[in-house]
Amino acid sequence: EIFKEVQLENLLAEVELLITPRLLGENVLFEKHIEPCNITCYEEGLKQVLVNLLNNAIDAVQNNGGDKLIRITSTISENKLLLSVENNGEMIPAEIVENLFQPFFTTKQNGTGIGLSICKNLIEKHNGSIQCESNERRTRFLISLPLDFSGE
Ligand code: ADP
Ligand code: MG
Repeated sequence: EIFKEVQLENLLAEVELLITPRLLGENVLFEKHIEPCNITCYEEGLKQVLVNLLNNAIDAVQNNGGDKLIRITSTISENKLLLSVENNGEMIPAEIVENLFQPFFTTKQNGTGIGLSICKNLIEKHNGSIQCESNERRTRFLISLPLDFSGE
């Protein structure tokens, strides 16, 4: 079975390790606020989701004039794990937010537009959901994962 129980803290530590070179290279301030928990998940898939979101967040803050901030937060609420990846940076216009998860949608010169559609597929394999909220202060991707789902 591809789903197994993992400690969220460990999964996030591995994700952070993968993304650290870019965070340092781009001088990004990275904050983690983690509520520890165990989750039954497709581990490599969930890591891929977070790496994709963090790479997009780094792209988004790259040209910030001032501070570059990325924050990852996990909380548990009503048997759901809520994971948020947010960055400061320019607001995404509403008509773009509507299309973000479409395969091959990109606004980047060398983008593939595949990252977020893969994220959505992987999260839906967990019976979860993913959405984007953007305003003048920050852009946030919010993932909701049921804690009682085991892949069946
Ligand atoms: P790619 O990164 O190759 O463009 P993605 O599917 O990962 O493809 O993202 C699609 C588009 O969503 C990006 O081109 C960008 O316009 C937008 N996007 C994704 N994440 C962010 C973010 N954190 N801030 C601003 N725009 C974003
Ligand atoms: Mg991407």
